[in-house]
Amino acid sequence: RAKETGKARCVVYNHARFTQPEHDVSMEAAMFQAVRDGEFLLHYQPIVDARTRQIMGFEALMRWNRPGQGMVSPAQFIPMAESNGLINLLGAWAMKAACVQIKRFEEIAGRPLYVSVNVSPRQFRNDQFIDVVDEALALSGLDGEKLLLEITEGILMADPEHAESLLTAMTARRLKIAIDDFGTGYSSLAYLKRFPIATLKIDRAFIKDLPSSVKDVAICNVMLSLASHLNLNTVAEGVEKEEQMDFLAAHGCSMIQGFLTGRPLMPSDAAALLKAQAAAETAAHQIG
Ligand code: C2E
Ligand code: MG
Ligand code: MG
Ligand code: MG
Repeated sequence: RAKETGKARCVVYNHARFTQPEHDVSMEAAMFQAVRDGEFLLHYQPIVDARTRQIMGFEALMRWNRPGQGMVSPAQFIPMAESNGLINLLGAWAMKAACVQIKRFEEIAGRPLYVSVNVSPRQFRNDQFIDVVDEALALSGLDGEKLLLEITEGILMADPEHAESLLTAMTARRLKIAIDDFGTGYSSLAYLKRFPIATLKIDRAFIKDLPSSVKDVAICNVMLSLASHLNLNTVAEGVEKEEQMDFLAAHGCSMIQGFLTGRPLMPSDAAALLKAQAAAETAAHQIG
């Protein structure tokens, strides 16, 4: 049977070279198997306070540990999972796993933490999505307000009526909503008025040339000021340099997520980081 699969993969691979990655049939078949074989996992990237650098939460980021190919990036498999519908299954698993994991992280840290989970357009449209959230909260015992759901701007305006009813159900559970990749979507600011958004995640596109780019300085200042006037939290994505961090902290950005303050980590490494931070805090209190 294994031989058969291998052959089929090989044949389809030749064909797939001439098609779009989304139509890579061998990868699609491998993905269904991977779900069954438990090859998907989550890494956790720290989201830190811009001033104190204390870890406030983590974003759960999906990885596919594909045998013989190492870690496959979500940029490669999420679009396919979105088009073949597997994202509903994967996303439900990720939601539960992330909520359970954050409870463990809270125990290790000895303080509250939040978890940020990405929600794809197809999951958002799915009628069962709110049930998935309820199951994740029930299974983990996590308080709804510790769960931040990341959606992109386009999702809300695609079907505003559906978005309104789903977001109402979410706020009833005290869940928080973040706009991911803020500023890169093809949409208006109207949704900020209409929907109960808690957090804006400023896309890395506007962060990477800070503080030397005059235009990015202007754009970031406007975004941070908008967020402040609307009482929204801000997370800057993709912060890699101290100068970026300094600029953002000085201009009122509340939180930072980037390689500078922590890469996406496997759970054991994230746990070690939390322990180290807790120990450093205890030491600082004893000295101070
Ligand atoms: P995203 O939600 O905007 O996640 C942030 C991405 O930026 C992550 O890429 C992260 O590793 C990367 N990143 C963080 N800090 C830095 C930095 O300092 N420099 C650079 N160059 N990159 C940084 P990743 O993990 O490859 O994920 C890519 C995208 O895949 C995510 O973008 C998200 O849209 C999607 N994704 C990941 N996990 C899931 C999931 O569980 N469900 C869904 N629906 N989408 C997911
Ligand atoms: Mg995200
Ligand atoms: Mg993002
Ligand atoms: Mg992004």
